[in-house]
Amino acid sequence: MSTSEQKPGLSAYWMPYTANRNFKASPRMLVSAEGMHYRDDAGNAILDGTAGLWCVPLGHGNQRIVSAVQQSVATLDYAPSFQLGHPSAFALAERLKAYTGNRFAHVFYTGSGSESVDTALKIALAYHRVRGNATRTRLIGRERGYHGVGFGGMSVGGIGGNRKTFSTALIAGVDHLPHTHNLDKNAFTRGEPDVGANLADELERLVALHDASNIAAVIVEPVAGSTGVLVPPKGYLKRLRELCTKHGILLIFDEVITGFGRLTTPFAFDYFDVEPDIVTTAKGLTNGVVPMGAVFVKKEIHDAFMEGPAGIELFHGYTYSGHPLACAAGLASLDSFEQDGVLDNAKAVADYFQDAAHSLRGLPHVIDIRTIGLIAGIELSSIEGKIGARAYEAFVRAFNDGILIRVTGDIIALSPPLVINRQQIDELFGKLGAILKTLA
Ligand code: PLP
Repeated sequence: MSTSEQKPGLSAYWMPYTANRNFKASPRMLVSAEGMHYRDDAGNAILDGTAGLWCVPLGHGNQRIVSAVQQSVATLDYAPSFQLGHPSAFALAERLKAYTGNRFAHVFYTGSGSESVDTALKIALAYHRVRGNATRTRLIGRERGYHGVGFGGMSVGGIGGNRKTFSTALIAGVDHLPHTHNLDKNAFTRGEPDVGANLADELERLVALHDASNIAAVIVEPVAGSTGVLVPPKGYLKRLRELCTKHGILLIFDEVITGFGRLTTPFAFDYFDVEPDIVTTAKGLTNGVVPMGAVFVKKEIHDAFMEGPAGIELFHGYTYSGHPLACAAGLASLDSFEQDGVLDNAKAVADYFQDAAHSLRGLPHVIDIRTIGLIAGIELSSIEGKIGARAYEAFVRAFNDGILIRVTGDIIALSPPLVINRQQIDELFGKLGAILKTLA
């Protein structure tokens, strides 16, 4: 498409993860948001079936957050976080620690999920080194994992499309566990599928290959989101935990999408009752209002640095680590989680939501539906030679019909704000079902 076919004023912005030329020929513009809805530039209300990009668990325009950020920007607009501090950064860390049930004693701030992942990987490497295990440098991710777009996250990530362009630039010393997706055995499962816990044992093969003394960390998403909702098989995460402990390998849970209530518990480690060593978060931390990520670290890991050489213990950090506005948004979000019954609502509607998702079984092209908490993945068969085209068509039609869905390949992923009600669930799946019935 030539630039003359674009709508005026759209050229300068190079949009992320977007077919820019398609978009600019036929833009979808969001201009405001409130509660469960966006509004587009034609004034249409669009029901948010995806909590933005998984990052608005409390719904849009949460008044606690709006007021807190307004007050913060008028008081302390920015404060450096290198060798200086400000009260809300410390206050938020204490609150986050408590929100983890005091299982993670320390919090390192970042600006995004990608930065959280790279931070966690660097902490893992530095931890082994500060304890005198400098050979533990190898990192292990998983096929179909998504850990953001930094070089570290991309390297441990396992989505081919994200890697192929940058293949020679990926960091060295990374291996991958097999993914756990199994359509033959596990299709149409609610919650954790029965088959696949043994795939965690593949870690033993990697240990045999490289030796545990060379492996720093394993990173996995407890529930893989961006690759199309892959729920861990029963017992899989527990087995991974056992093997990491056995071999002295740190286990990192990437909770960028599962953190802050997505599975109806504060974190996925609560839901699965499996405790990793390091947790990466972002998205729900500030309800998407101000960009922020946070890495939670077990006390023993942090202590190892504090017992190391004097001076700066970790040569890592960001200009926007612990930004005052983000901290204000984070504190207000936690207030909302703790005082507004958000997880109670998520628990109360989760079965209804999952029933509604599974009611689409049998519609044309639907080859799998998988659900957990307030997440649903609906996998469609692909049009030959055109992977992703069918789901993309559903996405565009859904938007025009007033619902926001997310697609990855030919998988539709739904992850609405946790404040959704039954009527809105009916609307979301009712409209999606009608679209699927007529999709080519
Ligand atoms: N990790 C996971 C599991 C994610 O789902 C994402 C984003 O979707 C990221 C990391 C990257 O987060 P960000 O886009 O904020 O860098």
